[in-house]
Amino acid sequence: MKARIVDRAHLLRIVDQLRQDGYQVIAPVRGRGRDTYYDVVTDHNRDRIEIHLPNPQYPPKRYVFPHIERLFDVRKENGEVRIEPAYYGPKRALFGIRSCDLAGIWHLDRFYLGRDYRDPYYESRRQNLLLINVVCTDPERDIADDCFCVCTDTGPAARDHFDLQLMDLGDEFMVVAGSPAGEARLSDPIFRKCTAAHVEKRRAILTEVRKRFKTMTSWFAATVRYVSQGKILDRTWEEIGNRCLECGGCTYVCPACTCFTVTDRRVGPNEIERVRIWDSCALGGFTRMAGGHNPRKAVHDRRNRRFFRKLAHYFIQRELSMACVGCGRCAAVCHGDVGMPSVVEMIRRATAETDKLPPT
Ligand code: SF4
Ligand code: SF4
Repeated sequence: MKARIVDRAHLLRIVDQLRQDGYQVIAPVRGRGRDTYYDVVTDHNRDRIEIHLPNPQYPPKRYVFPHIERLFDVRKENGEVRIEPAYYGPKRALFGIRSCDLAGIWHLDRFYLGRDYRDPYYESRRQNLLLINVVCTDPERDIADDCFCVCTDTGPAARDHFDLQLMDLGDEFMVVAGSPAGEARLSDPIFRKCTAAHVEKRRAILTEVRKRFKTMTSWFAATVRYVSQGKILDRTWEEIGNRCLECGGCTYVCPACTCFTVTDRRVGPNEIERVRIWDSCALGGFTRMAGGHNPRKAVHDRRNRRFFRKLAHYFIQRELSMACVGCGRCAAVCHGDVGMPSVVEMIRRATAETDKLPPT
């Protein structure tokens, strides 16, 4: 990987260059209060881009997998039925994506493109997308109370799956290329050589930042084992289910959730469109069948499905990563306090209670 250094004052030149090259650039900005969000960069908001700010509650996942996506139109014209697929793949750059969300996109890549069937809709959005990752280095602004990427090995500095990675070293940034497309952007004269002292500074900053995480789920690996072996007691799932209000919030903010449903809607007198829409295992309709039967009617039956899907060895082997990247958003939005770190803790406590004492 090629590394370069750029002055802080020149950092947004990367955004300007991308826009000049025809990219639609998406970057994090601050709204009112604590709100932060990703937005399309324009001449008006370009100076509001912030590198250090709380990670937006909505992950940038929607730029590869939108909430609602048109798949095709069906139109009746002069007695003939025409079907037109609706692919959309703009030339886009996601500037300032955090390491957890980058891991989320890689998980989606594996799910939608990593096996025999490649999803053409996902692929059309993904193939023209440039990912510019930012390392979280400011504990006060970057790291929320619920962040735990250090436990899922997805941050604070991503090791791969980015085109460019930016890391704040103080007055200057280290810029690392992770792909040929990223490396090509380092030809700009604003970049200069990286020295051993820069590398040492990077290491020292990361060592310090890792100590500043407040949520540490050291039981994560054991939870993966217990979930994979089906050793979680029914009463633990019931306890989790009893606390879930079935709002779907945890799945809608999750950068690694992949589920969707498909439906048709009328858009004109002789025209319908087929769309896919994010779905959530928290919602009763997720498993309801056409005749009305629901094999997972009880909420805890759908909650255990969520954690099995995210943590079971079978899926980790298939996607090459857990479907949890440690962003902490589910913990932040859940009214019932059954986000991932709490569930891991509930499983730890329940498992400790059922431990057999050695015979005396
Ligand atoms: S956010 Fe909490 S309450 Fe809402 S569906 Fe998820 S687990 Fe249930
Ligand atoms: S399960 Fe929760 S912590 Fe894990 S990636 Fe999804 S929202 Fe983030």
